[in-house]
Amino acid sequence: MPLIPDGRVLYAQALCEHFAAPAFNVCNLEMAQGAVEAAEAEEAPIILQTYPGDLTHGGAPLAALLRTLAEGSSAPVALHLDHGEGLEMIAGRLRDGYSSVMFDGSHLDLDENIRQTRRLSKVAHAFSASLEAEIGLFGGDHGSVVFTDPEEAERFVFESGADTLAVSVGSEHHQQSRLDLERLNDISGRTGHPMVLHGGSGIHPDDVEAAVGMGVVKINIGHAISVAMNEGAKEAIESGLDHYAMLKVMREKVRDKAIEKIRIMGTAGRAPANVPA
Ligand SMILES: [Zn+2]
Repeated sequence: MPLIPDGRVLYAQALCEHFAAPAFNVCNLEMAQGAVEAAEAEEAPIILQTYPGDLTHGGAPLAALLRTLAEGSSAPVALHLDHGEGLEMIAGRLRDGYSSVMFDGSHLDLDENIRQTRRLSKVAHAFSASLEAEIGLFGGDHGSVVFTDPEEAERFVFESGADTLAVSVGSEHHQQSRLDLERLNDISGRTGHPMVLHGGSGIHPDDVEAAVGMGVVKINIGHAISVAMNEGAKEAIESGLDHYAMLKVMREKVRDKAIEKIRIMGTAGRAPANVPA
C-alpha cells in the first residue's frame, strides 16, 4: 500500500467516511519513521508533510527520503507541501512526486488570493495532485489569528479551484484551543467543501470529533510530535544512552504521539484507502 499519488483520492475518502487524515510535519528520518510506524500499527492513512522550514533543514534529500518511506509503507501515505509560498516551491514538490500541495495566500487580499490560487490549482491538477488554500490566519509564527469569514469562504471555493480549504476557526499554531464550531458549520453548509485545520496539536479532542463530522478531512500535527521527539532526546541523554539508542527513543516517542492523534481523528482502521493500484 504505497504512496497515495493524488491527495484528492484520500480527501474524498475521508469526506465520505467521516475521518480526518493526520498530516504530520516531519524534518528528519526518525520523525518520518515514527509517523509511518504509527500508520502501519493503526492501519491508518496518513500524510507526511514538509513546511518550508523542514526543507530548509533537510534539503532536497528529505523529499526523496519521504517518498521512499511512503512507497515502502504497508499503510497508505500521502506527501504534502505545507504553507507553500509560490510557483517555484510548489512545482518543485510536485516534481518530487508530492500528492498534495498548499498555496498559502492568506496574507493577500481576497481577490489576489483567489487569482493566485486559481493559477496554482491548475498547476497541481496538471500533476494529478491536490491543492490546499487558506483564508484566515492561524497565528503562531504567521502573525495573529484571523478567523475565516464564512461568506468569503463561500466565494473563495467557487472561484479559486482549490480542492481543500484551510479555515481558521479557533485553532492556533503551537497553542491549546477550542473551536468555533458554529462558524465551522456555517462554512461547511455554505461550501460543502473538504476543510483543513492547522494548529491541530492542541485542539480539544471533543472539537476534533465534531469538526470531522462537519467535513474536516485533514488536520495538521507539527508541534505535538516535535515536542515528543525532543522529550525523547532529553530522556535519552539524561540516561546516558548512545546515539543509536537515543534516536530509537526519539522515533518511539513520535510514533506513540502519532498513534494518539490517529485515534482521536477516527483514522484508525481506514486503510486500505481507495488507492489506485
Ligand atoms: Zn499552518
